[in-house]
Amino acid sequence: MTTVNAAGTRTNWAGNISYSASDLLQPSSLDGVRRAVTSAPQVTALGSRHSFNRVADTDGVQISLADLPFEVEIDSDARVARVSAGATHAAVAKQLDRAGWALPNLASLPHISVAGGVATGTHGSGVGNASLAQSVVGVEIVRESGDVVEVMADDPTLDAHRVAIGALGIVTSVYLAIEPTFDVAQRVWTGLGWDVVDDHFEQIMASGYSVSMFTDFGETGIRQIWRKRRVDRDEPTIDLEALGASPSASPLNPVPGGAPDAVTHQLGRPGPWHERLPHFRSEFTPSAGEEIQCEYLLDAADAVPAIAALRGIANVLAPVLFVSEIRRIAADTAWLAPSSGRDSVAFHFTFRRDAEGVAAALVPLDDALAPFGARPHWGKVTSMSAARLDDVYPSLGQFRALATSLDPAGRFRNSFLRSVIDGE
Ligand SMILES: Cc1cc2nc3c(=O)[nH]c(=O)nc-3n(C[C@H](O)[C@H](O)[C@H](O)COP(=O)(O)OP(=O)(O)OC[C@H]3O[C@@H](n4cnc5c(N)ncnc54)[C@H](O)[C@@H]3O)c2cc1C
Repeated sequence: MTTVNAAGTRTNWAGNISYSASDLLQPSSLDGVRRAVTSAPQVTALGSRHSFNRVADTDGVQISLADLPFEVEIDSDARVARVSAGATHAAVAKQLDRAGWALPNLASLPHISVAGGVATGTHGSGVGNASLAQSVVGVEIVRESGDVVEVMADDPTLDAHRVAIGALGIVTSVYLAIEPTFDVAQRVWTGLGWDVVDDHFEQIMASGYSVSMFTDFGETGIRQIWRKRRVDRDEPTIDLEALGASPSASPLNPVPGGAPDAVTHQLGRPGPWHERLPHFRSEFTPSAGEEIQCEYLLDAADAVPAIAALRGIANVLAPVLFVSEIRRIAADTAWLAPSSGRDSVAFHFTFRRDAEGVAAALVPLDDALAPFGARPHWGKVTSMSAARLDDVYPSLGQFRALATSLDPAGRFRNSFLRSVIDGE
């Protein structure tokens, strides 16, 4: 087992969090993970460090699976792939595609680890696409005792394990439902007025396999609409030009000032699913880099009134906002998925890395979306209290009971989970 960087400060990817963990353990075998788990009273899994809060931090030791062998085993008959939990989506996707298989969707960046993305309910966009966790049909997990168990589709707690925010153990392999590989063509339009969005929101979001709108909620309306269409399907469409938008003749980064070569191909040339569904290319820095993100998911039926509420605080957001993204996500069965049990609209905010300025903007943002029962993304910042989290996540109590029964001494309960689960 490797102990990395026992001294010195380590941070998350964005640099807004300095981890307080005393050590980072990087075992290179399953037995090494088991020993790492029982080596300290407090342990937390660390993925690729792309979360913006303390969800992956601990007062004890962090355990990274980056040194475990990279494995993608495909069962073509069952249409299931068993993949190393610590591998990135970029690596897994390439391997699946080479073998003729695909995942239904990816997040805006392929750089994140499979287990880390799943653990926080990470999602892409698409009215018919649920979160990445919904593709999980089983997990291999190391419990607090060091025992290794498999939780598969016949286990009623699989939906708790799909989005477990690190509370139930260290996931070492993930079983993912796969489908035959497919191609996607992506195009971007600019400029769409709010009146058009109000009248046609759902039609626009349903006019492709995955559709995203980028805005600052200011008077100019939607700055960019990204539409990703599967070339193997006839998808409903809507004429965005007739609605006033213009097709872009060159690639655009959604972040103002961001490099256009960092984004996936946008000019309509079909390409493999994993090179079109993310917004950012795996070999480039995604998004802005020095940033802080927050995101809320609410019932898709409330999208238009929620947009009106956000337009009402555009001037409060403006000093710290790079860009906001609006996406649609299909309902999820995972207990703690932000999209659990309801077809959802997601409002994402990429803020400047100005912790004080962002903290000041979060309170009016939480207030604006509170009437809609908005649920915060587990990997991003929020000012929401633990009591409100209990209100908006109806299965949180059930999850708390399961986490306590599986980990009575609280080995995996870091300060983030103590606040979320125990209300401390
Ligand atoms: C530029 C950028 C773009 C993003 N785009 C999107 C997006 O499009 N959609 C979206 O929904 N989110 C997005 N996110 C958020 C990101 O997907 C989540 O924060 C995700 O959890 C990051 O995964 P990670 O591997 O970095 O996990 P970490 O941040 O390292 O950890 C997150 C959680 O996963 C747990 N975990 C990690 N590995 C394991 C394991 N092996 N076993 C058990 N638990 C584990 C950790 O303990 C922690 O609770 C974005 C983030 C960035 C930085």
